[in-house]
Amino acid sequence: MIYPPKMPWLIQQFFPKFLWRMPATIPPTLYLTFDDGPIPDITPWILEQLEQYQAKATFFCVGDNIRKYPAIFEQVKAAGHTIGNHTYHHLDGWKTSTADYLQNVADCQQLTQSNLFRPPYGKITPRQAAALFEQYKIVLWEITTWDFEASLSANDCTQKIIKNATNGSIILLHDNVKSWNRLKETLPAILEHYTKAGFSFGALDAAIVVDPK
Ligand SMILES: [Zn+2]
Repeated sequence: MIYPPKMPWLIQQFFPKFLWRMPATIPPTLYLTFDDGPIPDITPWILEQLEQYQAKATFFCVGDNIRKYPAIFEQVKAAGHTIGNHTYHHLDGWKTSTADYLQNVADCQQLTQSNLFRPPYGKITPRQAAALFEQYKIVLWEITTWDFEASLSANDCTQKIIKNATNGSIILLHDNVKSWNRLKETLPAILEHYTKAGFSFGALDAAIVVDPK
């Protein structure tokens, strides 16, 4: 099984309305994104790591987790990170009717209040996307670490970032239990490596990325 780290350029070009990466900036910046939280222990640990490096990030939250762990959700916001909508029940768009999908996004939105949306599994139908483009910037990613894949080591995940990320890359990570064995080493390694290399870590700024109508 091959776990490609980088979204092919051709796919990015074919779906230009999705956000895959940010423009290069000075100083160079990476955009870490964490999907599926907030959850106890792991999300607060991530916040501590980020704070040590004055790093900002974007958290695509699952509505049902915000309901269960509202204090952790508030902690993420209070630390100045950006929140995105990741549906209320982490639905697979390819297996869900458009009406049910949009309702689930709207239910999550009651809590997230964000104009950034990321479809769970990266799976969304053209109809679902067309409806959501009216209200959201749909954010995918350029670099995935496959941090949820138990057959990979933390170092495998770290190297996927180090060998492929460039100024402006959006990087997919997870604050979920499945990814913890890799994230606990990969995140500190990445923060250290890129800080030494003169990079900063930015949150996706909703104001910047929304399309002008
Ligand atoms: Zn997810």
